[in-house]
Amino acid sequence: MNRVALITGSSRGIGRGIAIALAGTGMDLVINFASNVEAARETADRCIAAGAAGGKTVRAEICLGDISSADDRAALLDFVRATYGRLDLLVNNAGITSIGRADVLDATEENFDRLMAVNLKGPYFLTQQASRWMIEQVQSAGADTEGAPASPEIVSRPKIITISSVSAYTVSVNRGDYCMAKAALGMMTKVYATRLAEYGIHVYEICPGVIASDMTSSVKEKYDQLIAEGLTPIARWGTPEDVGRAVVAIAGDLLPFSTGEVINVDGGFHLRRL
Ligand code: NAP
Repeated sequence: MNRVALITGSSRGIGRGIAIALAGTGMDLVINFASNVEAARETADRCIAAGAAGGKTVRAEICLGDISSADDRAALLDFVRATYGRLDLLVNNAGITSIGRADVLDATEENFDRLMAVNLKGPYFLTQQASRWMIEQVQSAGADTEGAPASPEIVSRPKIITISSVSAYTVSVNRGDYCMAKAALGMMTKVYATRLAEYGIHVYEICPGVIASDMTSSVKEKYDQLIAEGLTPIARWGTPEDVGRAVVAIAGDLLPFSTGEVINVDGGFHLRRL
């Protein structure tokens, strides 16, 4: 039986890159999306092709759901359970940019509430629900948290990855809510990593830099110029595939003694330089 990953917001952009990369390793997938069903179907098709290219048969099912909604989050996990009966990896990827990108002195409470609901409350409570199920899985497999799992069904422990951003520690005065939500996701990762370690469930934060996607298409010229001027030691745009590879490294159990860890996928943006 293939291992199963749920990736929120994987119809486009970084989420799609993650889904395709995981499919290439032979994982079955749930592709969550907010509204763009055509894009979600295309991601699913590309995942199946990526699996086949690696000599593996994978399933990729799409599931509509707004992660800011408690009902939709519950329905999403119900869908994973009904479709596959297991969950080995949750990737909290779905997110929106600051609505209207207003200066912090002009930003509205309504837009703040919406962004926090999608970018922070959604991942926080989806992780809570997924964690409860993952604990059940570990316990029902009779696994010994100190040693090898007792059941060959669970070849590795479930994992949780959250996609934050360099905005977690970099100020943008026209995206205050976005920066604050991303900073909070860092603490969310630490809290869940601590709480879930006793079950052998490890939790990670991936911190992407400037990544080419629909989210950054409206500021492409600005970032083209900044990159040309030396914004990052690795002088290029990041891609969804770059983030996908980092997720594959975690999902492939290459970091067994690490949890609560931050993986920067940013071309070295985070390095302070003189
Ligand atoms: P994107 O191109 O705008 O894609 C956003 C994805 O999230 C789409 O699949 C969209 O679904 C889905 N989505 C939006 N709102 C949702 C909701 N309420 N419920 C469920 N799904 C929802 O964004 P991206 O650039 O790939 O960004 C993905 C993540 O990486 C975000 O958390 C973002 O903050 C983070 N990030 C991005 C960058 C960057 O440079 N691009 C850098 C650092 C971090 P539909 O297709 O149905 O709309």
